[in-house]
Amino acid sequence: MYDFNYHRPKSIDEALSALTSASDGKLMGGGQTLLPTLKMRLASPSDVVDLGAISDLKGISDQGGAIVIGAGTTHAEVASNAAVKSKIPALAALADGIGDPQVRNRGTLGGSIANNDPAADYPAALLGLGASVKTNKRDIAADDFFTGMFETALADDEIVVSVSFPVPEKASYAKFPNPASRYAVVGVLASKGPAGVRVAVTGAGQGGVFRVAAMESALDGNFSAEALAGISVPSGDLNADIHASAEYRAHLVGVMAKRAVEAAG
Ligand SMILES: Cc1cc2nc3c(=O)[nH]c(=O)nc-3n(C[C@H](O)[C@H](O)[C@H](O)COP(=O)(O)OP(=O)(O)OC[C@H]3O[C@@H](n4cnc5c(N)ncnc54)[C@H](O)[C@@H]3O)c2cc1C
Repeated sequence: MYDFNYHRPKSIDEALSALTSASDGKLMGGGQTLLPTLKMRLASPSDVVDLGAISDLKGISDQGGAIVIGAGTTHAEVASNAAVKSKIPALAALADGIGDPQVRNRGTLGGSIANNDPAADYPAALLGLGASVKTNKRDIAADDFFTGMFETALADDEIVVSVSFPVPEKASYAKFPNPASRYAVVGVLASKGPAGVRVAVTGAGQGGVFRVAAMESALDGNFSAEALAGISVPSGDLNADIHASAEYRAHLVGVMAKRAVEAAG
């Protein structure tokens, strides 16, 4: 690890000031991705701005038609929250399936979506539920937030403050996890609700999370696993690595989509 200046601001304004006055500042949520990157000397920021003491970034609020979750909220807090479990159980289950207890107790919603790992679970939740991301500058629809593998619409001086998830009529997330890390080899979130019918896939796309329009059209009006019969995604745009070929991932997208729709009931 290289030397860096460490900041632990108490407000979003203080965090912004530390970030923008640094020559190469980096925000830190739970540090679950950032710290290994620093330890392996893959990054050498001049300043690390730890968001962990900012109370405005924490907490979960039930706003009737939507659940709003602060960016600094951990996966374990989302998984165990009564309002999330009752109104969007698919989201609680998704958070509960991330990594291991250590990762769930440190990793945050904001860090996960800002990082936009192509195998991360939360991007499927945001896109599959039609969520909206609030930053210190603006609101960004999930459809516009994830712009490519490890890429988002966030500017360098933009902090994720919270995410608003509209409460769906029905939703479920089905994941085929990597048995070691629990990252998604393929994960599919299918939902029907205020944001329409949505099918979002993580783990598979070369450009990160994506929606499957053909499945959404088939489910619109007939939200059943049978409606997905014969619909597949082309393997040409999918990831291939030591864990799974592109063809296998394409097959898994179909299987996971049917499981998600069946479980959403
Ligand atoms: C062993 C292991 C297993 C894992 N398994 C899974 C899994 O199964 N599924 C899964 O989805 N994830 C998994 N993860 C990732 C984990 O979920 C972390 O949440 C994720 O790495 C990033 O969250 P973090 O809060 O730790 O962010 P950090 O590591 O602190 O930051 C990540 C990036 O986000 C930026 N950032 C952080 N907070 C904000 C903010 N509020 N606004 C703007 N930018 C911000 C940072 O600058 C950095 O670039 C795993 C991680 C580990 C180490």
